[in-house]
Amino acid sequence: MKVELINYTKNPVEAIEKAASTCYDSQPTGGKIMKHCYKSGHHSVLEFADFTFKISGVSRALTHQLVRHRMASYAQRSQRYCEEDGFEFVTPASIAKNETASKRYNEVIESIKQAYSELIDMGIKAEDARMLLPNACCSEICVKMNLREFIHFCNERLCACAQWEIRELAKKMAEEVYRVEPALGEYLVPKCEAHAPYCFCTESKSRSCGRHPLISEYFGKETVRK
Ligand SMILES: Cc1cc2nc3c(=O)[nH]c(=O)nc-3n(C[C@H](O)[C@H](O)[C@H](O)COP(=O)(O)OP(=O)(O)OC[C@H]3O[C@@H](n4cnc5c(N)ncnc54)[C@H](O)[C@@H]3O)c2cc1C
Repeated sequence: MKVELINYTKNPVEAIEKAASTCYDSQPTGGKIMKHCYKSGHHSVLEFADFTFKISGVSRALTHQLVRHRMASYAQRSQRYCEEDGFEFVTPASIAKNETASKRYNEVIESIKQAYSELIDMGIKAEDARMLLPNACCSEICVKMNLREFIHFCNERLCACAQWEIRELAKKMAEEVYRVEPALGEYLVPKCEAHAPYCFCTESKSRSCGRHPLISEYFGKETVRK
């Protein structure tokens, strides 16, 4: 998996605070206004900073989950216009470390590759031959999110309940943003830490990773809506 931050709003905190200052007839404060807006739920001002990522070496299973995030813009490698002869594919660690599973997995991928090439050689269009392609087939996608959506994406996809591949992606995307603006790091966290220092898990007991107490343990059973 490769993740590159290819474009972004320079000085994102300042860009957000300049916009927010309009509401308060104030001046940028180096992060204080932004923190206040975040904590008070005035999240629309976070839309004034954008981040564009180029992502490659990920599975179509991952990109299908990614594009469910609707408040973002996407451009993805087309399986209609690009032929996928000899496609790259993702192998989950659970399969890679199991010799028998790995052998079976690779056999099926090889057989799909072979059948795909045969259909293309018969003159079948890529848009039809692609019906054979597996979820594991690698893809490339560009995504642009504003900070509001990116925080939401990180809250959901850095959570231990998210699937491993998209969790890895969210981590790499957050690292890229942190590299250019460390002040944003505290917002790019799983949802259990979105209200830090009040950290609690909203998942069920069976799904919770145990990193933070369940919401019912944190606030007491009687305060949690059934
Ligand atoms: C652990 C996990 C498991 C999942 N499992 C499944 C599954 O089994 N099946 C499945 O189908 N999906 C599943 N999803 C996907 C999930 O249901 C969402 O589609 C995805 O996380 C996108 O999030 P979102 O809808 O909150 O926000 P986004 O699309 O990222 O939008 C951001 C926010 O904008 C607002 N918004 C966006 N669109 C609208 C709208 N039309 N109306 C009102 N408000 C809007 C909402 O406040 C939303 O939270 C899963 C996601 C996670 C994280």
